[in-house]
Amino acid sequence: MKSCVNHTDKKAISICHGCGKDYCELCLVESKEFYFCKNPECQKLLREELPPALFPKKIICPNCSSELKLEDEERTSGKVHCPECEALIDFGVNPPKISNNENYIELLSSLNQGDIALIKSIFDNSKIDYYVFGENLSSLAMVQPTRFFVNESQLEEAKEVLKDIKLNIWSYSKNQYK
Ligand SMILES: [Zn+2]
Ligand SMILES: [Zn+2]
Ligand SMILES: [Zn+2]
Repeated sequence: MKSCVNHTDKKAISICHGCGKDYCELCLVESKEFYFCKNPECQKLLREELPPALFPKKIICPNCSSELKLEDEERTSGKVHCPECEALIDFGVNPPKISNNENYIELLSSLNQGDIALIKSIFDNSKIDYYVFGENLSSLAMVQPTRFFVNESQLEEAKEVLKDIKLNIWSYSKNQYK
C-alpha cells in the first residue's frame, strides 16, 4: 500500500490533483471532481474549481456600510461597484456583511462539492429564496464549509425538498430543528 506523504502510518486514498503526491483522507479536500491536498498552492487550484457562490440579494458594502441591492450577475460574480462610495468591491478579497433586515435563516452547511451543487439545483428548481456563503470567500488555506441560508418564510419548504435526499451534510444548523 502507498502511504500518505504526511502520515507514513496512514494509507493514501488518492493523489492530490494539484501536486500529484499521495495523501490520506485527513490531508485531502474533495472538490467536484478531484481531491486536493491542503498546501496553499493546491487549495488555490481547488477554489478555482469550486462552483460559483451565490451572494444574498442585499448586502452591506464592506467599504462604506451602505446597503446595496445586488443584480443576479453580481450575486454570482461577487464583484460589485458600490454607487455610494464608488469602490469596486471583490467579495473574494473583501467579504460583504449581510444585511440583517431580511429574514434569512441558516439551514445547513456542507464541505461536499457534489452536495453543494445538488442542493443549489434543488433550491433553484423549487424556487426557494436562498443564498450561500463561505465558498471562495476564504483567503485562508483551509476551505470553509459552505453555508446555506434560506428565506425564513420558506424554511419548512426547504427542509421538505431536501428530506429524501442523501447528503453528506457537514452540519445542520440548529434552525433545522426549530
Ligand atoms: Zn497538492
Ligand atoms: Zn495524511
Ligand atoms: Zn460602498
